[in-house]
Amino acid sequence: MKNECLFCGIVAREIPATVVYETDTTLAFRDINPHAPTHVLVVPKNHVRDAGELAEAGLADDVIKAAKAVAVAEGIAESGYRMVLNTGPDSGQSVFHAHLHLLGGAPLTLQMG
Ligand code: 5GP
Ligand code: ZN
Repeated sequence: MKNECLFCGIVAREIPATVVYETDTTLAFRDINPHAPTHVLVVPKNHVRDAGELAEAGLADDVIKAAKAVAVAEGIAESGYRMVLNTGPDSGQSVFHAHLHLLGGAPLTLQMG
């Protein structure tokens, strides 16, 4: 665990969160400030800083698979969802433990791309 990392604290169950899914390598919990009816954060249990380090650590596949499982469990796999990995300062990343935002449950208004 990395000292003073919020999401390491959640993984260690030292900081409370509403956990919705877990695998050997990932944990999924509800965002404290949801931007959609379903807004879940999927994190690797090991501390990596961002999406680039996630890929280098070979954990991106696990995180995306966990997000898909959460989408199915939340009943949004068919209606659709968005996965977002804010990476670095210009993206607005505010917690520097890699996390995938899974958003869905209603039409998502901000169109990207
Ligand atoms: P970022 O801006 O880094 O991509 O996303 C960080 C996310 O973490 C934000 O959506 C924010 O609402 C969420 N967040 C910040 N602090 C906490 C917390 O203590 N618990 C939970 N569950 N989510 C948090
Ligand atoms: Zn961490």
